Amino acid sequence: MSNPVLVSVLGATGSVGASALDVIANQSPGAPAFEVVALSANTNVAGLAAAAKASRAEIAVIADDSLYGALKDLLAGTGVVAAAGDAALAEAASRPANVVVAGIVGIAGLQTTLAAVRQGANLALANKESMVCAGALLRAEATRSGARFLPIDSEHNAIFQVLDRPERVEKLILTASGGPFRNVSVGEMALATPEQACAHPNWMMGAKISVDSATMMNKGLELIEAAYLFDVPEPRIEVLVHPQSIIHSLVAYDDGSVLAQLGLPDMRTPISYALSWPSRMPLPGRERLDLAKIGRLDFLPPDPQRFPALRLARTAVSEGGGAPIVLNGANEVAVAAFLQRRIGFLTIAEVAEQVLEEFLGNPTARHEPASFDEVYEIDRWARSRAIEKLRLAA
Ligand code: NDP
Repeated sequence: MSNPVLVSVLGATGSVGASALDVIANQSPGAPAFEVVALSANTNVAGLAAAAKASRAEIAVIADDSLYGALKDLLAGTGVVAAAGDAALAEAASRPANVVVAGIVGIAGLQTTLAAVRQGANLALANKESMVCAGALLRAEATRSGARFLPIDSEHNAIFQVLDRPERVEKLILTASGGPFRNVSVGEMALATPEQACAHPNWMMGAKISVDSATMMNKGLELIEAAYLFDVPEPRIEVLVHPQSIIHSLVAYDDGSVLAQLGLPDMRTPISYALSWPSRMPLPGRERLDLAKIGRLDFLPPDPQRFPALRLARTAVSEGGGAPIVLNGANEVAVAAFLQRRIGFLTIAEVAEQVLEEFLGNPTARHEPASFDEVYEIDRWARSRAIEKLRLAA
């Protein structure tokens, strides 16, 4: 019998975390035997304890250390170790594992992404914000440790699956559903509620990425993530609106061939690919893609007027330096304010643009951050400027 695959799932109570745990629980013939090392959550102590018990994890870590007692009580007698706080989270992420699922949302995931990379793990990367903010530094760490990035964002996973000759790539084509406001006027978007913004037509996801999909900042962040992950410059990364979310992305080669990966919109497919890489594992009992039933696949260019976030991401990644960190930090603050109903939907991109412009006026803006401390410093600056601008906008 082969050794079990050791997996940690960071952000286990989230949408990606739940899909990963579902794949791990798959006991069908042909699937590897998985053993869960560490699970983490931020504040959802009941969800974390339930997931840790069900998966028989070694350790469960709650980031909010005021919840340590509650987690310990819930796990009493189960054999799962309870831990809390940032240091415990980093320790759990650096425990030996074959694959670490990076499913924490926002730059809050960077600390654990880095810990797992330093440990030399295969990183099943959903937490795009860590790659956006520290792509070059993380890649350098991975070169030192031997860690690999196995993207599970469906677009990057699609590219990863069909990218067999990187030196012959002409362009990457990221597909985008267009989100819930694809056909909505700017006037209607101005009045959009968090519920409307989170009602994604094709994917069930956490609140932050759902709002990012509605503004198309998600596609912007993905574009930056793709530039770092695949080492392809921004002008050679296209975005194509494809409302059915069946083609998850494409790679165009210099012989005119365009390779795509297709599938139903279900995160378990890219997650299973990363968990079983370089092999594949069966996911039985799931609906299969039936193109005759779908009938047609549509494509259209993104609308830069209604979705300025994409332009901001292009500016940020082509200017380089701290600009992607600033765009991400300002966006995180603005999305949180929108979800708390403190600002309107259109203000999200407006604030991100104002903070990015202010940053790019700084003579040191284009210097590449030399350390993770610098990344956090730039992120703190962006957040404080966004908070200030939101105060003015309120
Ligand atoms: P969710 O909001 O559903 O889950 C986020 C997870 O991170 C939860 O476990 C949450 O814990 C934890 N978390 C939140 N804040 C912190 C913090 N400060 N410290 C430690 N843990 C924290 O997000 P998603 O699963 O939707 O997304 C996760 C990441 O994956 C994002 O970067 C997103 O862009 C990316 N992604 C998601 C996809 C999806 O289908 N959902 C698809 C592709 C990429 P708690 O539950 O306690 O709050």
